[in-house]
Amino acid sequence: MSERVDRLVARLPERELDALLVSQPENRRYLSGFTGSAGFLLLSADPPRLFTDSRYTQQAAEQCPDFRVSPLPPGWGWLVEHLKSSGLRRIGFESEHLTVASYQRLLAALQGEPALGRVSLVDASGLVEELRVVKDAAELVQLQRAIDIADAALERVVPTIAAGLTEREVAWRLESALRELGADGPSFSTIVAAGPNGARPHHRPTDTVIREGEPIVIDMGARVGGYCSDLSRSVVVGQPDDTFRRVYDIVLGAQLTAINTARAGMTGADCDNLARGVIAQAGYGDNFGHSLGHGVGLAVHEGPRVGPRSGDKLVPGMTFTVEPGVYLPGWGGIRIEDIVILEVNGVRSLSKAGK
Ligand code: ZN
Repeated sequence: MSERVDRLVARLPERELDALLVSQPENRRYLSGFTGSAGFLLLSADPPRLFTDSRYTQQAAEQCPDFRVSPLPPGWGWLVEHLKSSGLRRIGFESEHLTVASYQRLLAALQGEPALGRVSLVDASGLVEELRVVKDAAELVQLQRAIDIADAALERVVPTIAAGLTEREVAWRLESALRELGADGPSFSTIVAAGPNGARPHHRPTDTVIREGEPIVIDMGARVGGYCSDLSRSVVVGQPDDTFRRVYDIVLGAQLTAINTARAGMTGADCDNLARGVIAQAGYGDNFGHSLGHGVGLAVHEGPRVGPRSGDKLVPGMTFTVEPGVYLPGWGGIRIEDIVILEVNGVRSLSKAGK
């Protein structure tokens, strides 16, 4: 953790910041190890500080030995007092997380204190996220556990799916299996989309009854030690129809093309295009509406962006999903998703579930 803080502090001068106020929960956890639901980090050249309330004082001291833990009373008085004694002037904040109301109250608190006339708040969004895109060894251990548990849960439940079960029942079996296999919970609400429901990529499970021969899209993930997995498979009870066979092969071909040919140095858009080209060539370009993938780690969706308009440069150590899909209104959908890690010579799949 202290290494992560050092790397962050070393980057403050690039944005002309004296300090960064971290409020975003995953960023807070990434830099401190603190898993509580409330707290701020204040990072500068001084020893790192964690401000949290009395519910978490003991937990914070145990989880964050490198941090000085201080009380967090309601309001912004604690920060005002700290800034008066510290001499910090340009304070970065996370505009993607701090609410407008909190920001305005903070501004008012600073303006109400004549001694802080030279303190300014600076939008520092993305600063921590830029570090988080490349995973270190400890993160990869947790992420792989989350991936392995989702793989195992899927492989345990898929053979039990039968005609007559509802989407909701299958989703519950999957989420139960995740917990039984050691996950802290699902990393997002499990998607089970049967038949025409599968044409909506983010369908929520309903009481729709699964029927023989229909495509079923499953999208699920485990959360382990804060890290999220994300896995999609498309299955069918009984015999697949011709559309399933044809579209499944196209989507799988698109996914494998991206996995086999993505390279460091490409942009997210280049990578997306590897798979999108295969689907477009097969005539289904208009039926693949979402991005090829997204970064995954402490958040189930994070950088890098892997979509048609992403200029994000892909570098070794990034972990992201590769999840092409084809959606046919009235019939259903096919999506196949794995998590990969980008290495020097290409990508390696971390997901092992059968396809
Ligand atoms: Zn995904």
